[in-house]
Amino acid sequence: MTTLRESLAARIAANGPVTLADYTAEALMHPTLGYYSTRDPLGAAGDFTTAPEISQMFGELIGLSLAQAWINQGQPTPFTLAELGPGRGTLMADILRAAASVTGFVDAAQVHLVETSPTLRAEQAKRVIATWHDDVSTLPDQPLFLVANEFFDALPIRQFHRDPKGWREVQIGKDVTAGLSAPAPIALLDHRLEDTKTGDIVEHCPALPTIIDAIATRIARNGGAALIIDYGDWRSLGDTLQALQNHAPTDPFKDPGQADITAHVDFEAIAKAAAPAKFTRLAPQGMFLERLGITARAQKLEVNLSGDALDQHIAAHRRLTHPTEMGSLFKVMGIYPDTAPPPAGLEP
Ligand code: SAH
Repeated sequence: MTTLRESLAARIAANGPVTLADYTAEALMHPTLGYYSTRDPLGAAGDFTTAPEISQMFGELIGLSLAQAWINQGQPTPFTLAELGPGRGTLMADILRAAASVTGFVDAAQVHLVETSPTLRAEQAKRVIATWHDDVSTLPDQPLFLVANEFFDALPIRQFHRDPKGWREVQIGKDVTAGLSAPAPIALLDHRLEDTKTGDIVEHCPALPTIIDAIATRIARNGGAALIIDYGDWRSLGDTLQALQNHAPTDPFKDPGQADITAHVDFEAIAKAAAPAKFTRLAPQGMFLERLGITARAQKLEVNLSGDALDQHIAAHRRLTHPTEMGSLFKVMGIYPDTAPPPAGLEP
């Protein structure tokens, strides 16, 4: 059987170098050999762990923030409760369990999951009843309450190195090795000429604007809210491409399809694509969860715990919120209609 590396090498030999985004799309999402298509990468036995897998509190608080936004907008019925890249379905299951305490919310919710990986769709189906989509374009045209945790960091990026004559783009060439193109001006990076100098690296996620536009258009037209949680910052700078295998960094070009490849999310790109809806100020994850009451929730859960379970619970709370763990590296941005206040935990 041909490996993904061999198939990429053949494609490059025939058609010339590919962009980093094309390479990453194949490495992650190739229908039979891609990283996400062939495994469940989450948890201790996998390659990485995410906030919903660390503690149920994460999904519970997200659920209550979305339910509050639904109440603030007059409890529209029915509405779409959507998640992008739901992994194992843990976050959506926690959202639904916590929001069951909000009268009418779960009955009015139609759960829609956007997921390309057949393996992960099967995991999600163990935990939630839902309708699945390959991409956001087919989400229903009705009020949309949506969450995306560690979804945008998994979308392929292009990477550019500033040069006196423009930008050199990272390309994957002969024998699947990375190199740089000849320098050329790149119109979509014109706004980065003001804050970069020769040698600086900037990244661009080609799929992001279309996805945000589809979400923001629905929210502006029909109401709703989106919570986008990921690592990254406003206008990210530098090489943030990262490959992980067995919880350890690895070379992203060594063994395509065998490692997770991510990059930091440029939240400015999300904000720019959010019109005609509004976007919130960027909040560090720790601050967002504190505002939603994670400490009170942690104390309530603690009452029934002892020994190792209690130690794990305390460590999980710290991991989600502490500035030296996920608390400040991860950020949250909300998208909401101009007729409603921003989602709970976030500021205009
Ligand atoms: N949100 C989950 C999983 C994060 S991993 C959690 O927090 O645990 C990234 C998820 O996005 C996986 O479910 C992966 O299969 C999915 N994914 C990655 N790229 C995608 C794409 N282009 N379209 C749809 N889903 C995608």
